[in-house]
Amino acid sequence: MKRIFLSPPHMSGNEQKYIDEVFKSNYIAPTGEYINRFEQSIIDYTSTKHAVALSSATAGLHLALRVLEIGQGDIVLASSFTFIGSVNAILYQNATPVFIDSDESWNLSPKLLKKAIKELPKKPKALIVTHLYGQVAKLDKIASICKEEGIYLIEDSAESLGASFDGKQSGTIGDLGVYSFNGNKILTTSGGGMLVSNNKEWIDRARFLSTQAKEPFLHYEHKEYGYNYRMSNVLASIGVAQMEVLDSRVQRKREIFEFYQSELEDISEISFMPEISNSRGNRWLSTILFDKTNPMRVIEALEKENIESRPLWKPMHKQPLFKDSLAFIDGTSQNLFERGLCLPSPTALPFNELKRVTDVVRNICR
Ligand SMILES: *Cc1c(COP(=O)(O)O)cnc(C)c1O
Repeated sequence: MKRIFLSPPHMSGNEQKYIDEVFKSNYIAPTGEYINRFEQSIIDYTSTKHAVALSSATAGLHLALRVLEIGQGDIVLASSFTFIGSVNAILYQNATPVFIDSDESWNLSPKLLKKAIKELPKKPKALIVTHLYGQVAKLDKIASICKEEGIYLIEDSAESLGASFDGKQSGTIGDLGVYSFNGNKILTTSGGGMLVSNNKEWIDRARFLSTQAKEPFLHYEHKEYGYNYRMSNVLASIGVAQMEVLDSRVQRKREIFEFYQSELEDISEISFMPEISNSRGNRWLSTILFDKTNPMRVIEALEKENIESRPLWKPMHKQPLFKDSLAFIDGTSQNLFERGLCLPSPTALPFNELKRVTDVVRNICR
């Protein structure tokens, strides 16, 4: 039986051609025409004003905090129900993370966000909100709370490229947004990220910091420290080819979700991750919840059939790393974690192959 992966890379067909062009030009470097083209393709697609291509989304979040001058003693609020890459940068900056639980949307709870702001002894500087599994958080409420309170809003759109809220692309509604092009994301450059904003100063500064903070002299002058975070031109050429098929990838991911929904909807103990009104997610991973069945049993049964699946993200407030961190929690994300499962969502696989997945799930729940 051929292995079914969770979210394997799916090339458009033009990647190799563009890589060949990069090799012909010999710009095998963190500079070159394809980096500009990749940034422009993100600007065009998302209608953001400025973008900088980076080695990862984690690097993008780090630069976001750096350009906002967030450091020691500053509080950064963050979704608890997320991947560690979302919050590592808070630690890089020696800032203090405070975690916020989810609500019925699975994403950050605006109610708990308000409570946190009210009860914390000090005003938080920023919020990093994750759009989990490509489904958009309640951005209207969250953005207006941040605006009222004077808190910077950073969108972790690592999983949600192509998703939209109120007709606007995820990642472009807050002050800054990041996308990831890691190997398992909806598009991939094997590894990479993009930081976007409508604020030119911030993106210019992020670009400067991403290339070792070199002052504009030939002799390598430095007034402050930077990073080596720029994307390679080779990888950017893969990104340009991937952006050409983003719409069809989102469409296919959504069809995969609909396939699972229609195949499993008669099993009463199974439910699905919601899509909040006014939004259109990219359904990066199709995720389900069980009322009775232990998801670990399903994972094991799928593995026996050579099918990859994963638990949902383990909440940050439950991680040993953050055992001493403050968190505003009502148990929602822990409950989802204990009951949930990510199903394979490979865009290149025909539905008759995905039937192998639903057959196993049906068998266990019977
Ligand atoms: C993948 C991911 C990241 C990190 O992206 P990289 O490009 O691998 O650094 C951050 N946040 C979330 C929610 C992710 O899923």
